[in-house]
Amino acid sequence: MPTLQFVLFLSIAFLLGAVIGSFLNVCIYRIPAGESVVSPRSRCPHCQTTIRWYHNLPIVSWVLLRGRCAYCGAAFSVRYPLVEALTGALFALFLYRFGLHPVTPVAWLLVAALVAISVIDLDHQIIPDVISLPGIPVGFLCSFAVPWVSWQSSLLGILLGGGILLAIALGYEWLTKQEGMGLGDVKLLAMLGAFLGAAAILPIIFLASVMGTLVGVPLMLVTRAGRKLAIPFGPFLASAALVYLFFVDKIDPLARWYGAVIIYWWQNLGGG
Ligand SMILES: [Zn+2]
Repeated sequence: MPTLQFVLFLSIAFLLGAVIGSFLNVCIYRIPAGESVVSPRSRCPHCQTTIRWYHNLPIVSWVLLRGRCAYCGAAFSVRYPLVEALTGALFALFLYRFGLHPVTPVAWLLVAALVAISVIDLDHQIIPDVISLPGIPVGFLCSFAVPWVSWQSSLLGILLGGGILLAIALGYEWLTKQEGMGLGDVKLLAMLGAFLGAAAILPIIFLASVMGTLVGVPLMLVTRAGRKLAIPFGPFLASAALVYLFFVDKIDPLARWYGAVIIYWWQNLGGG
C-alpha cells in the first residue's frame, strides 16, 4: 500500500509533468517552424491575442474553456491537453518506479525529450536535431547518475546506436535504392544509447520493430497504401526506450550479458 505521503509525491510529479507538457506543446509547435521556444509568449494562432496565464493552465484551462480560445472562440486541438496529461502520467509513473532517487529526474528528462520528438515526428516525419543532438552529451552526463549505466557503456551506446542504425539505413538504401529510415532515427538512437547504455540498443530496436509491425501492417491493410505509407519510426523507438527503462532490471539477464561482452571487448581490445 502506498503511503499518503507517496500519493502526494505522485500527484506533485503529475502536476510538474503537466506543466512541462505545456512547454512541450510550445516546442512541438515552434521547433519545426524554426521559431524560438522562449519568446514571445503563447498566442492564439487564430486571433493572435496573447494567452493569459489563467487561460494557459495545463489540462484545466482547456477543459474549462471547452477547447476554445477565450477571445475569439477558435478551436484548440484536443492534442494540447493530451500531451500534458501524457507527460504528467509518465512523470508520475517513473517516480512510482524509481522513487526519490537521482534516476527519476533523468527519466523525466528523457520522457520530456521523447514526447516532443514523437509528436513532431508524427506531424512532420522529422526528428529535430535541436533535441536529439544536445541529447547525446546530456545523456552521457546523466549516465553518471544512473547506477546501471557506466560512462563507458554510455559512450559505447552512442557509437552503437549511431553505428548500427546508420549501417542498416545505408544498407537498405543500397539494396532498394530508396530511403527507408531517416538519419533522424540514427541520431535519436545515439541519444538513447547515451542515456540508457550500450546494452539497451538491441532490445530497443527489437521492441520498436515489433511494435512498428503490429501497428504498421494493419494500417497498411486498412489504408491500402502499401509500401508508400510512411510511418515514422521515432515514436516506436521512443516508446520502446521508455518500456526498456521501466523494466530495466527485468530485461537485465540477457541485456547485461551482451552488454558485458561489449564492455569486455572494449576494455581489452578497444579502450585498453
Ligand atoms: Zn483567439
